[in-house]
Amino acid sequence: MSGRVVFIGAGPGAADLITLRGARLLATADVVLYDALTDPALREIAPNARWEHVGKRGFADSTGQATINALLVKHANRVDVVVRLKGGDPSVFGRLEEELEALADAGIECEVVPGVTAAIAAAAASQRPLTRRGNGRSVSFTTAMTRTGALHASHTADTEVFYMAGKQLCALSRRLIEAGWPTDTPVCVVSRAGWPDQLHSDHNVATLPRASLLHSGRPTIVTVGAGAQALRTTAVRNRTDCVETRVETLKP
Ligand code: SAH
Repeated sequence: MSGRVVFIGAGPGAADLITLRGARLLATADVVLYDALTDPALREIAPNARWEHVGKRGFADSTGQATINALLVKHANRVDVVVRLKGGDPSVFGRLEEELEALADAGIECEVVPGVTAAIAAAAASQRPLTRRGNGRSVSFTTAMTRTGALHASHTADTEVFYMAGKQLCALSRRLIEAGWPTDTPVCVVSRAGWPDQLHSDHNVATLPRASLLHSGRPTIVTVGAGAQALRTTAVRNRTDCVETRVETLKP
């Protein structure tokens, strides 16, 4: 009889952002196949499991999807519990459909445990609620990258959250304007959300390219529209000409 595969969302950063359910199931793992963006500290939860890195990061260090599918099936046929640990939430830009299909084809039982996706972690890091009463009624999780590697931007919701666009903020700015966003629309950029060294900066659609240097080489979320709007804040210009904001405690 084969074992089962548990997909666990590790959350966006620090190990303590995994859910309790995720941590409990991770502790039962015999084998863990993990992504690049998951925190190494999570190993302490399953110290006796065999940990195998199958991560993808940007355009580099990419283990082919077919290889990952085959590894999942191979391990599930040999041990009781295989954990597939994914950054953020497994259902958001996580290639979950391919892996679930491969396991279903092999007759292997699966479970999916949700995690905190990067868009939500970025909203928390910047203290910018994704929905706003009145003008922020819809949120879209969007990838700017198409299958061919071309960049795409859209205007489908009041708040549009872009994944995987950190390396191409100049092009994203142009595409947003082409998609009909007014140039003064607020844009909030957050990198390494949820980690102790998370950074965020405020721009508008036209000045977004200025964020490139500050967030260079870090996983980055770009939030455009209603959900990027600053609250009542103190704005401080820093040397990179981005605007960093401190949120003041709002008095009742
Ligand atoms: N399944 C993941 C997303 C995987 S796609 C999730 O739910 O979050 C990888 C992209 O997610 C990165 O290119 C980046 O845009 C975003 N990302 C992941 N972790 C992040 C973090 N800690 N801070 C900011 N963006 C992050």
